[in-house]
Amino acid sequence: ANSYEEGLTKTRSSFSEKFKMLMANFRAVDEDFFEELEETLIAADVGFEMALKISNELQDEVRLKNASSKKDVQNTIIEKLVNVYDQAGNGENNEMLFAEAGQPSVFLFVGVNGVGKTTTIGKMASFYKKQGKKVLLAAADTFRAGATEQLVEWAHRDQVDVVTGKEKSDPASVVFDGVKKSIDGHYDILFVDTAGRLQNNDNLMRELEKMKKIITRQLPNAPQEVLLVLDATTGQNALQQARLFKDSTDVTGLVLTKLDGTAKGGIVLAIRQELHLPVKWVGLGEKVDDLEPFNADEFVYGLFK
Ligand code: GDP
Repeated sequence: ANSYEEGLTKTRSSFSEKFKMLMANFRAVDEDFFEELEETLIAADVGFEMALKISNELQDEVRLKNASSKKDVQNTIIEKLVNVYDQAGNGENNEMLFAEAGQPSVFLFVGVNGVGKTTTIGKMASFYKKQGKKVLLAAADTFRAGATEQLVEWAHRDQVDVVTGKEKSDPASVVFDGVKKSIDGHYDILFVDTAGRLQNNDNLMRELEKMKKIITRQLPNAPQEVLLVLDATTGQNALQQARLFKDSTDVTGLVLTKLDGTAKGGIVLAIRQELHLPVKWVGLGEKVDDLEPFNADEFVYGLFK
C-alpha cells in the first residue's frame, strides 16, 4: 500500500512539499518564520482565521517550551496540528462501523460527480476482500452514463460480485436488489455507489433519503456508514459540499481523495474544525492500493518527512 509519505510527495507543489520548504528555510524562531508558517497554512487551505489562530498559539507554545532547534520547533508544529484535528472531534474515532456478526454492513457513498466515489469503492472493496470479507457492490448511480460499467470493471478487477440496473432506471430498485442479495447471499459488506448529480440538490438529497429508507426497511441498523467523498484538490469547494451534504443527510464520515499531488491538504483541518466529521480514509492515487485508513498522527508526520 501507498504510504502517506509517498502519496503526499508525488508532486513538487504538494502539501508536504510546502511544509518541507518551510522547515528547510528555518533559521530561527522569529517573526519571519511564523509569517511563513501562516502563509503555508493558508496556501494549504486550512482557512485564513484558523491559520492565524494556529500560528499565534504556536508562537506561545514554542516560547513556553523554549523550543529553538529546528527539530523541537517541528515537533511542536506536528503536535499542534494533531491536537487541532483531535480536539475538533466529538471523541469518536476513525474506525469504520460494522453490523453485528451475521448481518451485512452497508456502506453508502455520497458526493458530487467526479470526486472519486466509484474509485474509492473499488479500492475499499479490495481492501476488505484482502481481509477475507465477502463483498458485494451495488451500482445505484444509474444517471451518469458509464458509471455502472466503471463499477462493474472494478468488481471484475477485485473479483467481487456486483448488482446493477439499466441506465436511467430507478436507483432505489438497485439498492433494494443489492440489500436483498447481501442478506440472502450472506455477504459481509455491501458498498452502494450513488449518483452525484440529479436535476437539483433537493432532488439529490431526497433520492439519498429514499435509498436509506429502502436499506433500513430490510436491515434496521443499516447503513452503518454514510461516507461523503470529497476531492481535496477543490479546497474550499470541498468544504462547501461537506456543509450541503451534512445539512441534508446523516454523514458518518469523510473520504478525502486526490491528496496525492495537491497543495490543499489542509482542507482536512478546515472541514474537521467546522463540521466535526471524522476523516476515515484518504485517497492517494488512482490505483487499487492508493487508499489509506486516515490517521491524524501519520498524516501530519507524513507532511514533514
Ligand atoms: P465519481 O464520479 O465520484 O464516482 O468519481 P470517479 O471514481 O469516477 O473518479 C473521478 C476521477 O478521479 C477518476 O479519473 C479517478 O481515477 C480519479 N481519482 C479518484 N480518486 C483519486 C485519488 O485519490 N487520487 C488521484 N490522483 N485520482 C483519483
